[in-house]
Amino acid sequence: MNPHLTGDTRHIPHNETARAACTDADPALFFPSVQGSAYNELVENAKTLCADCAIRRECLARAIRHSETEGIWGGFTGRERRSLRDHAHRLHMVSPQLITDLRAGLRVPVPAKERPGVVSRLLGLGWSENQIAEALGVAPFAVQIARRLAEDAAAYRAAEQQAGRPLALTA
Ligand code: SF4
Repeated sequence: MNPHLTGDTRHIPHNETARAACTDADPALFFPSVQGSAYNELVENAKTLCADCAIRRECLARAIRHSETEGIWGGFTGRERRSLRDHAHRLHMVSPQLITDLRAGLRVPVPAKERPGVVSRLLGLGWSENQIAEALGVAPFAVQIARRLAEDAAAYRAAEQQAGRPLALTA
């Protein structure tokens, strides 16, 4: 049974459960009650399932809309969802001058925490992942990670908005 239908969190619509990668998984995997290395092992196993889940982002959005603080949803632990909130804020705080400099071919240091917003902005300008990797002086894999994080952060922001809690955005 889908672990998110076994406890207090019965808000995944039934018509979606068949698409969930965790339909037959042990609920303990997603709500670990152990600590230390055993906790880490359960979390990693859960995340492996989430990574290939057809409704991963919908699951994440649902957890955010319902302010879930516990459990693994959409591949994020509660602590990671709180961190995602910071990324959602930063998406809109990319310096226009930084983007201008990068477009001019300047090698500008971009801190890792700012990378998702910068990658998102450059993708929006039509840059390829390889072009971005070259401009930022990082491996293409790092750009792919930043892209995925930016997309998850955007999903976070949209879910907060749907829940009537729009994030305050500062440019
Ligand atoms: S994203 Fe993970 S927790 Fe959510 S439905 Fe899919 S496998 Fe289950």
